[in-house]
Amino acid sequence: MTVAILALQGAFVEHAAMLERLGAAHFEIRQARDLERPFDGLILPGGESTVMRKLLHDLELFEPLRERIADGMPVFGTCAGLILLAKSVDGGVPCFATMDIAVKRNAYGRQLGSFYAEAECKDIGVIPMTFIRAPYIERVSGDAEIMATVDGNIVAARQGNQLVTAFHPELCEDLSIHRSFLEMIEERKRS
Ligand code: GLN
Repeated sequence: MTVAILALQGAFVEHAAMLERLGAAHFEIRQARDLERPFDGLILPGGESTVMRKLLHDLELFEPLRERIADGMPVFGTCAGLILLAKSVDGGVPCFATMDIAVKRNAYGRQLGSFYAEAECKDIGVIPMTFIRAPYIERVSGDAEIMATVDGNIVAARQGNQLVTAFHPELCEDLSIHRSFLEMIEERKRS
């Protein structure tokens, strides 16, 4: 199994370190040529969703990646990566728009945007959550499912093979979300 990490901007190195610890093969996607390498899952890291959306289009990565995601390839979006997958974005423009979630960018305000919490994540247990100028999910629809909430706000969701968190698991020691994403990939490979 090989996981590709979108590496245009933001916290991609930290995701690579998590995959390294889990012994999963991975490589970075920086340009269209990188898509020639086979991969079974994709991580969209945190960073600045507006910048990533522009670069995805400029580098002609948008359409090929959108097709793979729409086709069911497992994808894990953290923070800005979550925003890239949402069909509705308050305070921004949708990008891949493959997931039935409505998100609010910078939802906690600039001042309160960064904080730490611990909360239950469905099927996983209590995990540490680091938020940095984070969005939250205002609502899920279709078959999108709420995975975690903090103070009444939805901070993680899943729809089919798409998994998103408003927080940054790659900035914590806990490997459980990455591990469950790798299980999603294994499951798809088996089916
Ligand atoms: N506020 C950023 C955005 O809108 C997301 C923040 C993050 O990824 N840490 O893209």
